[in-house]
Amino acid sequence: SADELGEETVTTVALKDVTKVFADGTRAVDSVNLDVNDGEFMVLLGPSGCGKSTVLRMVAGLEDPSSGAIMLDGELANDLPPRDRKIAMVFQDFALYPHMTVGDNIAFPLRLAGIEPVPRGERVTDVASALGIGDVLGRKPSQLSGGQRQRVAMGRAIVRRPGLFLMDEPLSNLDSGLRAELRAEISGLTRELGVTTIYVTHDQAEALTMADRVAIMRKGVLQDVGTPTQVYGRPATLYVAAFLGSPRMNLLEASVYVHLDRYVTLTLGEQALYLPWDDIRSRAVAHYHGERIVVGMRAEALTPVAPDSPGDVLHGRIRYLEHHGHESLAFLDIGATAIVVDEMGARGDAADVAGQRGLRRFGQVMQRLAGRAGEE
Ligand code: ATP
Repeated sequence: SADELGEETVTTVALKDVTKVFADGTRAVDSVNLDVNDGEFMVLLGPSGCGKSTVLRMVAGLEDPSSGAIMLDGELANDLPPRDRKIAMVFQDFALYPHMTVGDNIAFPLRLAGIEPVPRGERVTDVASALGIGDVLGRKPSQLSGGQRQRVAMGRAIVRRPGLFLMDEPLSNLDSGLRAELRAEISGLTRELGVTTIYVTHDQAEALTMADRVAIMRKGVLQDVGTPTQVYGRPATLYVAAFLGSPRMNLLEASVYVHLDRYVTLTLGEQALYLPWDDIRSRAVAHYHGERIVVGMRAEALTPVAPDSPGDVLHGRIRYLEHHGHESLAFLDIGATAIVVDEMGARGDAADVAGQRGLRRFGQVMQRLAGRAGEE
């Protein structure tokens, strides 16, 4: 549904039960199901070796799935050669033609496609100015900074208006200031062009700032898919809870007991909270009566308060404070476990932790550890 010069392209990608087992037996991708919508910016996130590049290479047609289906625009694409997939790809090592000017580098794919010089020149100018490299079109790659070179590589990839843009860690060779700047540019540009994008990274800041949705992988298995707010706020698995966010989410083992006269005991380590029924913290856990669970609590959902504050609070001792400029974190021992909270006025060396500010977000049950005995 695309032509060479500018007609709308619609591209959706769907992976159905896609598995890749390499010849040496490595199960790089394991039964992955994922839908990427038209115009969406999807980020594949996960640690090194989790299979994200392999997913991308299968979508590009550079690698065959061992089983399952790669669908492009609703049609089975498993046997479609890469050149027929209307896909552009940018890698970490962006190889430009050193003897060509920036303008010629960007124009190269259009020349290959036989586009006339005038529309070609206009398209190159448009793309270059969108990427902020309009003033270096006459230079050779050796006369550019790393960031400019990556912009040229991106310009060359996107100049044919692919239906689908695949990027594998395109920013990982750049310094951190430049990375942050290019992040915004890349997501801005792809949104402006409305091009569906799959972007691979192991950098969660990149993922959370750029993505419409994030797909988190671990050892070939898809763990969670959702908007940055969803995967951060309500991670689907313990792994995702621990993987996303800095500081790491507090993960505390607890047991739950619902009393008939309508209050809930939540035992965390050596401490117990006695929570009235209408305390939102009760609601979060009441369903797990008689069970041992892991409760996940973000630092920003917990507030230290003065020792002996009223209300049911956890008692802790401040081990140390860490200042980050825009926030300060307090690391507390609350018995057997340590937790981290937003400092917010913690003083001295003792503090109690209330759910106060973050009552609504006090916690999320991440995992059942042991089932209830007998009843229900
Ligand atoms: P990175 O961020 O380090 O690139 P990744 O998440 O992109 O990691 P992949 O490159 O997809 O991971 O690799 C997934 C797994 O498959 C790894 O264990 C890797 O060693 C393995 N693998 C990749 N290519 C091959 C191959 N051609 N033959 C055998 N195993 C491979």
